Amino acid sequence: MPSVESAVCERLCTNPIILSAVKAWRSIRTIEGRAQFSSPLTPILESPDFLLGCHDQGFRVWHNQGITKIGDLFDGQTLLSFLQLQQQYSLQKCVFFFLRYLQIRHFITKTTKQAWERDLDITIDDLDWQEVWVYAGKISICNRTKSTQFRILHRTHITPALKNKMDTNASPLCSKCNSETGNLIHCFWSCVKLQCYWSGIVKELLFLVFQ
Ligand SMILES: [Zn+2]
Repeated sequence: MPSVESAVCERLCTNPIILSAVKAWRSIRTIEGRAQFSSPLTPILESPDFLLGCHDQGFRVWHNQGITKIGDLFDGQTLLSFLQLQQQYSLQKCVFFFLRYLQIRHFITKTTKQAWERDLDITIDDLDWQEVWVYAGKISICNRTKSTQFRILHRTHITPALKNKMDTNASPLCSKCNSETGNLIHCFWSCVKLQCYWSGIVKELLFLVFQ
């Protein structure tokens, strides 16, 4: 029995060649750990990744107002607030649309949050998670630094481990220590070559707090 996602794909496309290619792409994406929301071009209506948009007429109103893809909900790398969305797309101010906003915001952030919780073996409070995104946009006046920060948060930063999933000829090992798998946690936190750096940060923070 096909999954709900496959059934949506099959409803939208009957060409067996295109369908096979789409299914193969979706499988690869799952293997890469980028299932569900992974592109700002993800349509809001009739998307196998966002099933709410297949059944809820509220999102059709959004579509008619110009919000046709997930990327329309962003200003650069920042998710628009409901108020900004209302102003930008002339949405009615009502609970009906606010509920849809909460649903779609949850959809955008939940898989990323869950992946970080799994990697860090912690539970991240929803308010803390929102602050993380706010800080990422304020971390520097340098757009390149901010962009890198958002790529890391979105887990789309190309680590050796991710590169290896795209190209098996590329080494999955960390380029600093060359001994362990270079995933996000290792490359930015646990690599033995970074311990001196992180110790310095902790030392500096202790000095600032307890001086
Ligand atoms: Zn390393």
